[in-house]
Amino acid sequence: MRKIYMDHTAGAPVDRRVVSAMHPFLEATYGNPSSAHSFAQEAKEGLKDARSSVASLIRAEESEEIFFTSCATESNNWAIRGFAARNHDKGRHIITTTIEHMSVINVCKHLTKQGFKISYLPVDKHGIVDLKALETELTDETILVSIMYANGEIGTIEPIKEASEIVHARNACLHVDATAAIGQFPIDVRKAGADLMTLSSNEIGGPKGVGALYSKKGTRLQPLIFGGGQERGMRSGTENVPGIVGMGKAASLTNLEIGDRITKLKRMRDRLIKGLLSNIPYSFLNGHPSQRLPNNVAVRFSFIEGESMLLNLDMAGVAASSGSACTAKTLEPSHVLRAIGLKHEEAHGSLLFTLGTQNAEEDVDYVVDLLPDIVKRLRALSPLTPKELTGSV
Ligand code: PMP
Repeated sequence: MRKIYMDHTAGAPVDRRVVSAMHPFLEATYGNPSSAHSFAQEAKEGLKDARSSVASLIRAEESEEIFFTSCATESNNWAIRGFAARNHDKGRHIITTTIEHMSVINVCKHLTKQGFKISYLPVDKHGIVDLKALETELTDETILVSIMYANGEIGTIEPIKEASEIVHARNACLHVDATAAIGQFPIDVRKAGADLMTLSSNEIGGPKGVGALYSKKGTRLQPLIFGGGQERGMRSGTENVPGIVGMGKAASLTNLEIGDRITKLKRMRDRLIKGLLSNIPYSFLNGHPSQRLPNNVAVRFSFIEGESMLLNLDMAGVAASSGSACTAKTLEPSHVLRAIGLKHEEAHGSLLFTLGTQNAEEDVDYVVDLLPDIVKRLRALSPLTPKELTGSV
C-alpha cells in the first residue's frame, strides 16, 4: 500500500546528510567535550561548528548567543522561568497569547503560583495576535512578552517585528517561540527584535532530542538546569554531541536550501488547499489565508469528526493529524482552534496536514482524490449532517 506522510510538524525524517554528519560522533568521536584529551577536542570542535551554524541560520550576532537544550519545550521553560527568576525585582507581569504551545501556557500557569500576573492576548479569527491589546496590557510591571513566530496548528505567522517594537518601547523583553517557524521562512533574529528565541532541531531535518535557546547578549537569564557548568554555566549536563552536530548540519543545509524548500512546499500546500476546498462542500481553511507557513494545510469539514477522518486516512496509508500532536491525547478541542473562535463541533471537524520536502505533488493528488469520498461516507453516517445533504455530500 502507498504510504504518505503529512505530519511533519509532529515529527520529521532526519536528512540523510545530517545522519552522515552525526555518524562519526556516535562512533569514533565519543569523547566528552569537557575532558582534556584529543578525543574531547574533536567533540568540542563539533559543538563549536554546530553553534556557529545555528547562529548563522537566525543571523545571530554571536555564536555564544546560542545555547543547546534537549527540545523546544525545555527552551520555552527555560526562557520564561529563567527570565522570571532573574528579573522579578523589576516586575511580576508577563504577557503571552491564547494560542501558544502548552510548554509556554503551562509555564505561565505555574508562575501564577509564584505571584506572577499573566495576561493572555487574544487573536483574530485568522489567529493573528491583537497588537492593540498588547499595547494596552503592557505596564511598568511587565518584564516579558512571549509570542510564537508561527502556530503549527493553524499555520498563521505572527507580526513579530511590530510586536517587538511595542514591547521594547515599554522596556520589556520579547521571547519568541520559533519552533514551528524555523526553516519555513528566513529568520533574522535581530531584525525581528527577539531577546530570546526557541528553536527546535527536528523541524529543520535534524534529530529529535535537541533544541536551542537564543539569548541575546546581555539578557538576564537564570539557568534552568544546574550542575557541572556546561554551556558556559547556563545549561549543565554532558552535551548531546551527536544530536547537536546533527542540528548544526541541519541548520547549515537549511541556510543553503531554504529558498528551494519554500517554493516546493508552497506549491504543494496551495495545490492541497485548493484541491480539498473545491472538491469538498462545507470545507474551510483554518488560520490565515496568506500569512501562512509554507508546509501547513489546516482545514475543517462540517458535520464530522477529525478523528474518524484520520483513521480512514490512515487505513488508506495517509498520516495526518487532527490538531496539535502535542495535545492530541486529550479529547478537549484544541485551545488554539477555540481561540480563533471555532465552536466545539467546528474544532472537532479539523484536520492538519503538514508537508515535508520529501512529499511529492502525486502525494497531494492522492489525498485530494481520497478525502472527498471519506468525507462523503462519514457524513452519510453522521447524525449532524442535515437531511437534505446526506444524499449529495
Ligand atoms: N512550540 C511549538 C510552537 C510547537 O509546535 C511545539 C511542538 N512541535 C513545541 C513548542 C514543543 O516541541 P517539543 O515537543 O519538541 O519540545
